[in-house]
Amino acid sequence: MEKILQVKELQVSFSTYGGEVKAVRGVSFDLHKGETLAIVGESGCGKSVTSQSIMRLIPNPPGKIISGEILFKGEDLIQLNESELRKIRGANISMIFQDPMTALNPTLSIGEQIMEGIIQHKKLSRAEAKKAAVEMLTLVGIPSPELRLKQYPHQFSGGMRQRIVIAMALVCQPDVLIADEPTTALDVTIQAQILELFREIQMKTGVSIILITHDLGVVAQVADRIAVMYAGRIVELGSRREIFYRPQHPYTKGLLQSVPRLDMERDELVPIPGTPPDLFSPPVGCAFTARCPYAMEVCDRAYPFRTQLSNHHYVDCWLQDERAQVLVSTFV
Ligand code: SF4
Ligand code: MG
Repeated sequence: MEKILQVKELQVSFSTYGGEVKAVRGVSFDLHKGETLAIVGESGCGKSVTSQSIMRLIPNPPGKIISGEILFKGEDLIQLNESELRKIRGANISMIFQDPMTALNPTLSIGEQIMEGIIQHKKLSRAEAKKAAVEMLTLVGIPSPELRLKQYPHQFSGGMRQRIVIAMALVCQPDVLIADEPTTALDVTIQAQILELFREIQMKTGVSIILITHDLGVVAQVADRIAVMYAGRIVELGSRREIFYRPQHPYTKGLLQSVPRLDMERDELVPIPGTPPDLFSPPVGCAFTARCPYAMEVCDRAYPFRTQLSNHHYVDCWLQDERAQVLVSTFV
């Protein structure tokens, strides 16, 4: 499968008064052409920081990409300067956020806003840009697009505004779309419609999507593969089937039991006890040790090796590794 984006050993830190927060601690993954990869985890696990690093949107200071590579079509985005990045942002890699209102300018018509990106990146005439904007609004399911181009954001409902934001993100036909909690601000019915729209758009355009979310319901609906993040690391990655039906990391299992799903009764929900470790001084071993019902001595002492379970499925957990017992015997 063609790899459109490769993140390798990414480390990102933030300086604060309390010290350095190691928000992302060696994250690696590939994004394949035309797939949706979901990155899931609790708030503060580093999933948004990872996606903002890809767009090089980490405010520096206080944030800093410490090391790693982000290869987009073979080019390392970490090495690019601001003007090179501006050419890529929006044109090749686009991003949409949780709250559509913050992405839209209330004083400009939505036509102006959709056309702005394409005029800037593709050097089209206004007439051509307008045609592209109409096509985009049609693609995202806005009725009477010619008329609605002249309207302002406040004249649209929340769900419609998110469709407009998606149109803006897609107008330059990017290869990669990063969506950070794109449906969190919407009610459940609209949320389902927007997720369905992602699928349609992907089928029609072949865009690769990174979907950042804490919501496994969202993931179940659209993800091809799922990366589970905990305390700044990907602890398990697999196909949607593998993560939902054969989860191996105790944290993944905990997540699946702690969020409501359609096939589950409310009283079956079991929250994961405890809280994630603080990332000022992250543990040397597995960061889930304090909350894990299966924790062993080795877990505290050393970070687990990665175990490959299938082509696409891997996990970082000592339970999967026979060497755990051998290592324990070397501790005094
Ligand atoms: Fe639990 Fe140990 Fe596996 Fe971490 S490495 S998830 S503490 S069993
Ligand atoms: Mg976030």
